[in-house]
Order: sequence, then C-alpha cells, then structure tokens
Amino acid sequence: MQFRDLQKQYKELETEMNEAIRGVLENSKYISGPQVKELEQELSDYVGTKYCVTCGNGTDALAMMMMAWNVKEGDAVFVPDFTFFASGEVVSFRNATPVFYDVRQDTFNADVESLEKAIIAVKNEGKLNPRVIIAVDLFGFPADYEALQKVADKYDLLLLEDGAQGFGGMQNGKRACSFGDAATTSFFPAKPLGCYGDGGAIFTNDEGMAQYLSSIAVHGKGTYKYDNIRIGWNSRLDTLQAAILLVKLKAFKKYELDSSNIVAKKYSELLEGVVQTPRIPAGFLSSWAQYTIQLEDSKQRSELQKYLKENGIPTMIYYPKAMHWQTAFEGVKNYVECPITEKLCDTVLSLPMHPYMEEKDIQKVCMNIKKFMGV
Ligand SMILES: *Cc1c(COP(=O)(O)O)cnc(C)c1O
Repeated sequence: MQFRDLQKQYKELETEMNEAIRGVLENSKYISGPQVKELEQELSDYVGTKYCVTCGNGTDALAMMMMAWNVKEGDAVFVPDFTFFASGEVVSFRNATPVFYDVRQDTFNADVESLEKAIIAVKNEGKLNPRVIIAVDLFGFPADYEALQKVADKYDLLLLEDGAQGFGGMQNGKRACSFGDAATTSFFPAKPLGCYGDGGAIFTNDEGMAQYLSSIAVHGKGTYKYDNIRIGWNSRLDTLQAAILLVKLKAFKKYELDSSNIVAKKYSELLEGVVQTPRIPAGFLSSWAQYTIQLEDSKQRSELQKYLKENGIPTMIYYPKAMHWQTAFEGVKNYVECPITEKLCDTVLSLPMHPYMEEKDIQKVCMNIKKFMGV
C-alpha cells in the first residue's frame, strides 16, 4: 500500500499525460511556453481570482508575497505554530519576526483567539510593527477566513492564505486560494494538485500586484527580459510542469477531488468512535491533502504506527515539532503559549490518502486500527 499513490494516478492519465509531455518536447519552448499562460488562466478561473502567477515552488510563492509587501526587519508576521516549516521560514528570510499563534484541536487550523492575543501582545510590547497574518489550510482544509478577515480588518493587517495543502477546498462556496489579500499554493508532487517536480502559484485580484509578481519572478523584468527595473530573482514554473498540471487539473476537477472526499468519508465512518477523526464544520469542503487522526498520547501513537507498519500500512507524522521548537527559530520570542500545537505534535497520525485509494485498502487500514485499539 502506498501513502499517496502517484503511480496509480499516472497509469490512469497515461495516454493524455504522455501526449502533453511530447507536445512540450516537440515544441521545445521549455521556459515560458504557451502552456504556462493557459494554466494560469485555468487556475484563476477555477479558484475564482482575477490573476494567477505561477512560480518555482510554494516557498517561493510565499517569499515573493513577503517581497511584494516589503516585509522587513522590525515587522511582525503572525504564523500558525502547527504547519510546515516554510510558512515561517519566509518571514525570517526577510529578517522579519515570525510570531507563532496556536491552532484549534478540531480543525488543526488557526485559533483566532490565540492569534488576537498574539497581536495584542506584540502591540503592547511596542517593539515590532505588526504587518501580516499568514493562515494555513492544513491537510486540505481551509482555515476560517471569515473569522480571520475580521481580525485582519480590526488590526489593519494584511492576510495571506498559505494554500499549499488547500487547493480545491472551500468555505461557504468560495474556493481555497481566493481568500485574504493574496494566496499561495504549491504543486509539490504530494499536494492535492501536484506536478512532476517543483511548482507553485500566487493568486490575487490586484492587477498591479500580478504584474509586479510576474516581474520579480523573472529578474525584475520591465517591458522585456533584458530590461530590468527592480531587483527580483528567478522563479518560474517550467513549461513541462505546466503541461502536466493542465492534464492533472482536468482530472482533479472531474473526479479526483470528489474521490478524495469519498475516501475520507469512508475512513470517518469506519473509524467513528475508535479514534478521533478529522471534523469538517458546516460550510467547509476539504481537499484532503492528509487524513489525520488523533491518538491519546505519543506512546499510543508510536505503538500504533509500528503496528500498522508491521502490517504493511505506511503512515506519516505531520508535524512532529512545533514551529517554536524548531532549532532554526531558537531565540524567536514566544508571545503566546501554544498548548494545542504541542499536544497535536504528540498525537497526530496521517493515514494513507489519495483519490485512487481502493475500498479494500481503506478497509484494511481501519480493520488494523480497530484491532490495535481492541474494538
Ligand atoms: C508544501 C508546503 C509549502 C511549501 O511548498 P514547496 O512547493 O514545497 O516549496 C508551504 N506551506 C505549506 C503549508 C506546505 O505544506
């Protein structure tokens, strides 16, 4: 059993995929080929933003937004304590200060009360200038942007959606990657919409911002590549990845997102009352980047993980370490306590999850968990 079976997906899409890749090879426009523009149009249509600017990966996408907003030394950027390292890394990369806030135990996403406490603590201290809230759509499930936007408005902060895991999800009819002042995503192979290498994108409704981002992605270009009007860098989605994503996006829209939701529903039915399963509040849709259960403590979790491994079932721990515990953030001040994150780091376990997962494999995973739990 695979944790995320990308081979099965390739087999399913093989004919169309080979055709798309061959098209790029025959055309030989490897950088900025026509598929890149086509993909950007399709992505922004699907997400519901005016513009989409593709780039090299999800970390670059976040870093480019930090550049676009001129986040700098002395600025505070609020980041969830329970997320992938990149969400906070890009803040320190700009010499700004990440301020970690806690998440909710039921959704794994932003706890707006903790966030607001962190903002007030920074303001009261008066040393840092609060600038941006980063919210993360963890495990495919959009953060509560209606609540987050209210906090952003109240304190006059920019809101950035890190939708690296959230592509395809929804809150009250609005797609993930359309929230806040800008949103980013990643096309790393294991994300809900993944390519065959690295890739990323930024979504915005602001034309000037889209132009600026397209410019910094190509060495701060002006009217053409050798007219350089600002300091940028090099971060492009290559044509091969764009062609691959066009095929994958079609499958994602047509059935993959639905299939992932069917797999998740089956898991939740079979594991109800056995372990704590993910809860999706009314009005939300998840794209199930991960299906993550919670155990009693780290001992029970490692025993279950070992038991499942012995029975041929791969699992992953996302994430074993809170952001404020990372060595790289040593010396970064904690403005609020993050007890939920600390607890989750000890208790979460992600199960095999992908749109091509067969019923018999779901049954096998759940049967083994039940056996382990003695129910
Ligand atoms: C994967 C991920 C990123 C980074 O994306 P890359 O394409 O790997 O650079 C950023 N934030 C979150 C929440 C992620 O899961």
